[in-house]
Amino acid sequence: MQFIRYRRGARSVRLGVRDAGGVRDLRAAYERYRTLGGAPDAALAKALRQASLRALIAADARAFHEFLRAQAMQESERVPEEAVTLQAPLHDPGRVIGIGLNYRDHAREVGQEVADFPPLFAKWTNSLTGPFDPIPLPPDVTALDYEVELGIVIGRRACRVAPEEALAYVFGYTVINDVSARDRQFRTSQWLAGKIGDGFAPLGPAVTERQDLGDPLVLELKTWVNGELRQAGHTRDMVHGVAALVSGLSELLTLEPGDLIASGTPAGVGMSAKPPRYLRSGDLVRMEITGLGAIENRVL
Ligand code: MG
Repeated sequence: MQFIRYRRGARSVRLGVRDAGGVRDLRAAYERYRTLGGAPDAALAKALRQASLRALIAADARAFHEFLRAQAMQESERVPEEAVTLQAPLHDPGRVIGIGLNYRDHAREVGQEVADFPPLFAKWTNSLTGPFDPIPLPPDVTALDYEVELGIVIGRRACRVAPEEALAYVFGYTVINDVSARDRQFRTSQWLAGKIGDGFAPLGPAVTERQDLGDPLVLELKTWVNGELRQAGHTRDMVHGVAALVSGLSELLTLEPGDLIASGTPAGVGMSAKPPRYLRSGDLVRMEITGLGAIENRVL
């Protein structure tokens, strides 16, 4: 299933799932689940009221998930797609962990060696923004750049998990743009200053469940700027694959449901063009990953 968060007109944000049949409102689906004899689940009901995918994942409501998979959408649960404005599918993760230099071609283009331990950095929730929301260009920034990345959403608590078991700890995947202000990023040895701007992490359009995507290492990642293809990478070129990243991070800290990992970007960022080609006000950035959909954000 593809989990989304959406706003309908002036109403509050809701959680939904999206498939070929359209958008299904999860509060209405839960009401029907209860009507059909499903057991009450306080944590799930709270997650739906809060429209928090993190809380929904943490609630681990397996019976409700099975209901959603087994029972076709009823009219009472259907939301007209044209009335939906998509929000960031995950807005309140406990952590957003960035992985640096995780594609061989990107490391090469920026003149860096790949290493046993990739550089790590953080973003916070102020950076998360919707799949079609604008990217703010701060007035002092002259080197705004894009990075298409596979976003990994953790499904259950992971502490010192072996690589061969690590994928079972993943809830799903999404597209994330690790927007980076290069002028801020390279003022010091720590990249953080360039990564934490407001709206510097457009996300979405959905979080697709792991079992619906299959192997995460056979995906194409693409970026277009104003219709021109700039990045065309493949997850098989990752230095540290999804299982290795989840396992390796779980050695450093306990990962929690809803934690988000931005797993690194392939070649083609604006910084590595000669001369560099940074984003300007008005530019339209489109990113797409196989099976996960596309996000499109205008720089403002
Ligand atoms: Mg990045």
